[in-house]
Amino acid sequence: MSDLYPTHDKLVSRAEKETRLGQRGQVLWFYGLSGSGKSTIAQALDRELHAAGRLTKVLDGDNIRGGLNGNLGFSDEDRTENIRRVAEVAKLFAAAGFVVLASFITPTVELRKSAREIVGEDDLTLIYTKASFAACQQRDPKGLYAKVAEGKVPQFTGKDSGFEEPSVDSADVIIDTEALDLAASVAKAKALLVTSD
Ligand code: ADP
Repeated sequence: MSDLYPTHDKLVSRAEKETRLGQRGQVLWFYGLSGSGKSTIAQALDRELHAAGRLTKVLDGDNIRGGLNGNLGFSDEDRTENIRRVAEVAKLFAAAGFVVLASFITPTVELRKSAREIVGEDDLTLIYTKASFAACQQRDPKGLYAKVAEGKVPQFTGKDSGFEEPSVDSADVIIDTEALDLAASVAKAKALLVTSD
């Protein structure tokens, strides 16, 4: 099967791209409840890295669920396929030297494991943006929790659909967005970037 689509050695290598960009391709993958701060941190970090001359790519529900994954819903099967596709896309960007900032709820240990396997251990840092359901409900940045209360959002994570916190021995980094303000949260995420030096 793999012989059908040979990767020929005439392609510009990842190392050459990284040298050109002066950065290491990698993926910071933010996961957590809706409203826990994934996108806000990813967007602020994107802005900061861009200002510092870094090539970045934000992947989130907004630019993925409407297009590439527009045919997927929120059943267990579709959530699995959603993460599989996003992880494959993140992997392609990382191989092109980008710093990828992915923010997806990624509610189960199994889904996070799958992202890790697809992107590869060396290129992926999993970051749990920790905030309680009550805090997220209080923030309700997209008005989703209000709709949930009216019963208008089926399979909502943290309510009808489960969310598994990382286990205590997990290597995932935790950013507690109830304890840290946005600047401190962004700084903590930024410190996780692997530099090429
Ligand atoms: P998600 O992408 O996880 O669904 P959002 O980033 O859209 O969540 O919303 C997070 C909300 O929490 C925003 O209203 C943001 O202003 C607020 N917030 C409060 N503290 C923080 C923090 N430390 N980091 C990120 N967001 C925070």
